[in-house]
Amino acid sequence: GPVLKFNDVKFHYDPDREILKGVSFEVPAGKTIAVVGPSGAGKSTISRLIYRFYDAIEGSVEIDGQDVRDVTQKSLRASVGMVPQDTVLFNDTIAYNIRYGRPEATDEEVREAAKLAQISDFIDGLPQGFDTPVGERGLKLSGGEKQRVAIARTILKSPPILILDEATSALDTQTEREIQSALDHVSQNRTTLVIAHRLSTVINADEIIVLRAGEIAERGNHEALLALD
Ligand code: ADP
Ligand code: ADP
Repeated sequence: GPVLKFNDVKFHYDPDREILKGVSFEVPAGKTIAVVGPSGAGKSTISRLIYRFYDAIEGSVEIDGQDVRDVTQKSLRASVGMVPQDTVLFNDTIAYNIRYGRPEATDEEVREAAKLAQISDFIDGLPQGFDTPVGERGLKLSGGEKQRVAIARTILKSPPILILDEATSALDTQTEREIQSALDHVSQNRTTLVIAHRLSTVINADEIIVLRAGEIAERGNHEALLALD
């Protein structure tokens, strides 16, 4: 059966305003499903329900046929990896930040993950912050570089299910392209749910679900959806 499944999920933060109005979809093993839609459609809410930052109000979210409400937080965190939209780094080396989530990883594994995420040059540096001036080992990282640290962390952790929150708008085209290639690498042959703002970033998805105002408005492959545009 599907690895990840939403069964007629309804959700609201505020009872006066329904955010998800009965959303159903499945992500089969090894496939990539993308949810795209305008800002405010409820896309990030979907990832929050998988990670149980919130629970569905009606319906259910299942992983490997099991309701996520019956899965321990520990096992949920082990099976689902997330590359969030905004990455907040710990005030420690980039290598430490990559290793977070799999502390037992070898230096060699950390270096390999950094290489795939294209951040090899600065794994010994420290994110600019509390007590590190820029210029010594202090690094002033762009949003895209921080996101690549999160990608390296996820490569190292290698979770069975991956959530990529690409609904980012702040990146320039070049950075977006670099991140895209790192993400394509991570999601290959892995059960992946991509959350994205624009159709153009999810060309390789096996199925694309268009979410509008908390409802699935369209679904299909990239070509079919472009034809509807
Ligand atoms: P998207 O990711 O598609 O932009 P979200 O899932 O983040 O949309 O949000 C859907 C709607 O829910 C938005 O209108 C947003 O303002 C609202 N929302 C998101 N988080 C909260 C919250 N914690 N409390 C109340 N409303 C929220
Ligand atoms: P772990 O369980 O892997 O040790 P966390 O539970 O802190 O780590 O977070 C798991 C993943 O979810 C991390 O990639 C983290 O950046 C991301 N994350 C944590 N909190 C949030 C949040 N409130 N919104 C979005 N992403 C988050």
